[in-house]
Amino acid sequence: MNYDVIIVGAGFAGSVMAQKFHEDGKKVLVIESRKHIGGNMYDYIDENGVNRHQYGPHIFHTNSKRVVDYLSNFTDWYPYVHRVLGKVNGHIVPIPFNLKSIEDSFEAEKAERLKKVLVDSYGMDKKVPILELRKNKDPNVVELANYIYEYVFKYYTMKQWGLTVEQIDPNVTNRVPVNVSYDDRYFADAYQIMPKEGYTKIFEKMLDGVEVWLNTKANDVLHVDVEDKKIYFQNEEFKGILIYTGAVDELLDYHLGELPYRSLRFDIETHDGQYQQATTINYPTPHSQNAFTRITEYKLMMENYPKDKTTIAIEYPLAYDRKAYEGNIPYYPIFTEENQAKYERYCSLLDDIDNLYLLGRLAEYKYYNMDAIIDKALDLYEKIR
Ligand code: FAD
Ligand code: UDP
Repeated sequence: MNYDVIIVGAGFAGSVMAQKFHEDGKKVLVIESRKHIGGNMYDYIDENGVNRHQYGPHIFHTNSKRVVDYLSNFTDWYPYVHRVLGKVNGHIVPIPFNLKSIEDSFEAEKAERLKKVLVDSYGMDKKVPILELRKNKDPNVVELANYIYEYVFKYYTMKQWGLTVEQIDPNVTNRVPVNVSYDDRYFADAYQIMPKEGYTKIFEKMLDGVEVWLNTKANDVLHVDVEDKKIYFQNEEFKGILIYTGAVDELLDYHLGELPYRSLRFDIETHDGQYQQATTINYPTPHSQNAFTRITEYKLMMENYPKDKTTIAIEYPLAYDRKAYEGNIPYYPIFTEENQAKYERYCSLLDDIDNLYLLGRLAEYKYYNMDAIIDKALDLYEKIR
């Protein structure tokens, strides 16, 4: 029971820390509430022979050579460039919205005019966030900006977050800019690759030799006392290092109320052959037309995929309710100033507990992609060491 390091959560945040400390000869325990490791990256081959990502499609992309080098200790890769189409005002066009999307959306003469004003305004190869595009003073640009806002961002964002574009942190919509180019890739990163044998295999290798308790919630075995600033593990004071990658409100028994999250439901369907033209098709249509935001056909992400059957996931955003049957997974922190302030009040309760570290998308209440959290975990390990 003499653990040097206890880690809550077996996603990338927890597993990188576990792998590094274990490699260092430390006695490590990982506590995971789910019945499997891998966090939201958990995948498996389903009944159709398709690699299904249980918690939504996860595409690996990064500019960090350090992250690729680190993960390459646990996997080989194949190249995969993610392309997304969207149902935009009745037309199926590439997203991010780019010069080709303009051509596909308007008749030739108007398309030429709109492309020209966009290129004249920003220059070729620029990426412009929608909120910035809307501030442009040129009425021709504003016409286009309003169109893209209305048909690409407005309803998708309302469905995804239950908030308007203006209510959510601008960094959220900045993730999908308007491309003043013909670049139709969803991501612009230098490395766009997928693990040859899927994500779960990476986690199996990372956690090889590490003690993992599945089906165990942190609060079943751990208690953080914010008054005497101590951590208790199975009712005894724990003086080792605790890395916590779950939600802080849960860790502190909702002491200051609940932190808001957004949840999802994935409706899974089997079809014959191929279902759609691209791995993901976005539906930025009003809720009354489509209550879902996107449909992903998992096999189109695979290196070699079965031809006869296919599995699709239809993604429905939902209000998060930890006690509900549906919507009880906190997928996304909701990025508003008010929520951030509440999160910081929680953190201030934990400030002086020197052997506790918060790491990860839930614990830090941030919109991290996989590569960012791996990078952050590698940094934290160096810092603690
Ligand atoms: P998680 O993967 O969520 O792992 C946290 C783990 O901790 C979970 O296994 C959870 O069960 C466990 N846990 C939580 N609380 C407790 C507790 N109290 N006790 C015990 N265990 C607990 N990123 C990309 O780079 N590319 C993508 O394409 C991409 N697509 C995404 C799609 C969706 C729908 C979502 C929601 C996210 C996507 N991401 C993507 C982001 C990616 O999922 C995160 O960057 C990543 O999961 C962060 O890792 P983590 O370890 O912080 O969290
Ligand atoms: N977004 C949108 N329309 C789209 C795609 C994205 O309005 O067709 C907005 C929406 O607010 C979304 C955000 O951009 O939440 C980020 O999109 P991304 O695809 O990065 O979301 P994720 O894959 O993380 O859910």
